Amino acid sequence: MRALDYIVIGGGSGGLASALRAARHGARVALLEPNALGGTCVNLGCVPKKAMWYAAQTAHELQRAREYGFDIRSGVLDWSRFLARRQDYIERIQDSYRTRLKESGIEVIPARGQLVEPGRVDAQGRVLEAPHVLVATGGRPRRLTLPGFEKGMLSDDFFDLRSCPRSVAVVGGGYIGVELAGVLHALGARVDLYARSTLLSHYDEELGQALADSMRADGIGVHLHALVPGLRELDGGLVLDGIEHSMAAPYERVLWAIGRVPNSRCIGLENVPLSLDAEGHVQTDDWQNTSVRGVYAIGDVTGRDELTPVAIAAGRKLSDRLFGGQDDAHLEYANIPSVVFAHPPLGMVGLTEAQARQRHGDNVRVYRACFTPMQSALSDHPQRSLMKLVCSGKDDRVIGVHLFGPGSDEMLQGFAVAVKMGARKSDFDATVAIHPTSAEELVLMQ
Ligand code: NAP
Repeated sequence: MRALDYIVIGGGSGGLASALRAARHGARVALLEPNALGGTCVNLGCVPKKAMWYAAQTAHELQRAREYGFDIRSGVLDWSRFLARRQDYIERIQDSYRTRLKESGIEVIPARGQLVEPGRVDAQGRVLEAPHVLVATGGRPRRLTLPGFEKGMLSDDFFDLRSCPRSVAVVGGGYIGVELAGVLHALGARVDLYARSTLLSHYDEELGQALADSMRADGIGVHLHALVPGLRELDGGLVLDGIEHSMAAPYERVLWAIGRVPNSRCIGLENVPLSLDAEGHVQTDDWQNTSVRGVYAIGDVTGRDELTPVAIAAGRKLSDRLFGGQDDAHLEYANIPSVVFAHPPLGMVGLTEAQARQRHGDNVRVYRACFTPMQSALSDHPQRSLMKLVCSGKDDRVIGVHLFGPGSDEMLQGFAVAVKMGARKSDFDATVAIHPTSAEELVLMQ
């Protein structure tokens, strides 16, 4: 058997992408994954979450259909029937991975990997050797040592729910808190969300505010600057200590959505002391090199833009560099677009207004459009959309695009290309609008 060139520890989106690209360049690769292929994204994150978001969007559409005059009586989801559909979709992704790995000649070892020394990895008893080793072990939900913490569920547990709970308190105002609060509410739960600061604190402040207003208008209790010190049982349900509760308490379920931590402690750091940051993320340079020669890291374990496409792109670039003769290949981490699948969704690329003002001072101009999309204007509960362009310099270069409202998720990708290419406000102005759409507002701002 030919000696290995590359050992990939972790079969999530990033590890898989890097392994497949390395094999395409002719490298002999082993991939270690003790659990289901696809990692968090496919099994406990993006994919099942987006499936639930589609179901929730459908519930909103049914509501709107009634308001438009359609004679629709039941809008209740048969949760377990939909779960079977969701699972079927996930299994098709896993099958496709298995096929591609096999066709690429990658050896998949269903074992946990531990670094023994640089270039040597213990796969639960079998020692593998290769000049290059990738750590792509991802992350897991953060737990806190608060009284009653274990009575609540984590985002992983959300995907095990077999029916929609009657009432839920969501703790955390980040991506997961906002997204799952929206899904649960749309599918019939009474939901309160408690955030220790604001919603989506790293997003543009106006968007976080617009989202909070919209969630409240929808009937979700949004409680900002609410730190939850613990959890206890009351009257057969759960209540949050020290918090003034809305009508929904006691809750049938509490969901902790308070961030994620890296899976870095279980990879043999006692043998190969990679540099970690204070939160345990493996530190890397712009080429995904760790502090140890021949050991690289990508994805959530590094804590850099914890998004699936980032891990995939970084993993592919790394393999291009190591095995494809592209000596300087690396991911450019600036201007990475992201979307939050709330109802409606929101997204951003580039700098927020606050970041831009901090970096460029008075040299910043902000253009805004706040409007009611036509589809919503025709319903009983019209909701406002918000769009912002953050520009800087004499030529009004667009350095931030911020979208809140229906369709933002699909609109953003193309505008991210424009930002990446260095588009100016005048390029937006010179583009003829598509009417009537929400997207046209982006080229009509004054
Ligand atoms: P997150 O977006 O970082 O949000 C964490 C939330 O928990 C924030 O509201 C944070 O408050 C709060 N928090 C942190 N520590 C806390 C504590 N000790 N007590 C109370 N509240 C606390 O994390 P996440 O929602 O868990 O998502 C994890 C990562 O997955 C994200 O970074 C994101 O990149 C990725 N993700 C992406 C998507 C998507 O692309 N659509 C969807 C889901 C997840 P502060 O804001 O005040 O810090």
